[in-house]
Amino acid sequence: MTEDVMPGTGVLAFYCPVCRMETMHNVAGQKGQVYALACTVCRNGSLISAEQMRRCRERWEEELKEIIAHLDSPGN
Ligand SMILES: [Zn+2]
Repeated sequence: MTEDVMPGTGVLAFYCPVCRMETMHNVAGQKGQVYALACTVCRNGSLISAEQMRRCRERWEEELKEIIAHLDSPGN
C-alpha cells in the first residue's frame, strides 16, 4: 500500500488568501479527493483537490532541489 500523503503529516507551500502570500500549510486531513490544509502562520484553513495538492508538492520539491543546488555550489 502506498499513500501519497498521510493526513496530519507533512507541510506544503500553498498560497494563503489571508496572508496574501505563499506560506507553509500543515496537511490537516483528507476526505476522498479533498485535502484540508491549515496555514502555519494565520491558521486559516483551505481545501484543495488531490490534483492541486500534487502540483503544489511537485513545485515545492522543485524549489527544494534548487535551494539544495545553491547550497552545494558556493556562489561568489
Ligand atoms: Zn495564512
